[in-house]
Amino acid sequence: MNFCVKCGCDCEESLDGLCIDCWLDGRKLTALPHHVDLRVCTNCNEFNVGDRWVKKDLAVAVQDAAADALCAIRDVRVTSVAMDVDCQDPYVYVVNVHSHCDIMGYEAEDDASTIVRIKNNVCKRCSRQLGSYYEAILQIRTGSRELSPEMREESLAMVENSVARQAAHNRSLFITKMELVTGGVDVYLSSMSLGKSLARELADAFCAETKESPKLVGQTTDGQDMYRLTYLVRLPEYSVGDVVVSNDRYCKLTRVSGSGGRVMDLIDFRERAVRRADMPDLKLYERSSDLREATVINRMGSEIQVLHPDNYSTVDLRIPDGYEPGDTVRVVTIEDVLYVVP
Ligand SMILES: [Zn+2]
Ligand SMILES: [Zn+2]
Repeated sequence: MNFCVKCGCDCEESLDGLCIDCWLDGRKLTALPHHVDLRVCTNCNEFNVGDRWVKKDLAVAVQDAAADALCAIRDVRVTSVAMDVDCQDPYVYVVNVHSHCDIMGYEAEDDASTIVRIKNNVCKRCSRQLGSYYEAILQIRTGSRELSPEMREESLAMVENSVARQAAHNRSLFITKMELVTGGVDVYLSSMSLGKSLARELADAFCAETKESPKLVGQTTDGQDMYRLTYLVRLPEYSVGDVVVSNDRYCKLTRVSGSGGRVMDLIDFRERAVRRADMPDLKLYERSSDLREATVINRMGSEIQVLHPDNYSTVDLRIPDGYEPGDTVRVVTIEDVLYVVP
């Protein structure tokens, strides 16, 4: 058993020789600095927390800033807080923090207050984006002189979706700008790794060829060489559904993937795989959008009779097993001979 050196009472536990009541008497348990600066990005409205920028409501951000600055003296543990916020003006908030504390099993309460000041700032990502910062350029081109509008839309949609997906986990990733240029489109990107991953994604989806070239753009303040990277993605001219020439045979392109493609021969309708390495050898013969339509007038087993779209003569055409032609079929003329494109 101890006794208190101040009031002389017997007490089970003592702090600095005092009973808990004498120890608590007039003592400040918690403290807050005179003011706390809370930085907000004027561009994206996110708040600075430690070394990160976080999206939250202003009211929550003000309370969090005060709570984060709260200190308790030795032997005191804050178990819960209640806050009272008084808005002096949109940039100044007086916050009173009422704390419930635990001191070696005893409960006590205390109040402390601070001024949370909102400071306008621009986060790193926004300052880069606003300053047109970029580390990589993705150049989307095709083998021919012009990138078709369809190819451009399709590839840019893939780029935008992918960046949105990656930016959800990493806010430093963004598209700085897109620029239409002769022969294609240039996409300026905030990071080299983003450029690399987009080039790979496009290469896989379209069986495109890619080339990476670094360019020295200067030096950092500590003397390191600084590079930008250009990722050239050359999209093939063909896409699925087009008639292509593969090993001197006319075929319909039925599939394109990262590992290669598949073609269907228009003479015997056999399908075969094309290795990734051989994909660049495919030659576009006719785009799927340019294929003609012919009216079916008769059908007998594996043959149909159609009206030639140019001269309306009757033509017999072979069709593959299991193929059910409708009222019209798509056809292509190869060396004056008409073929069905199933
Ligand atoms: Zn005492
Ligand atoms: Zn920002």
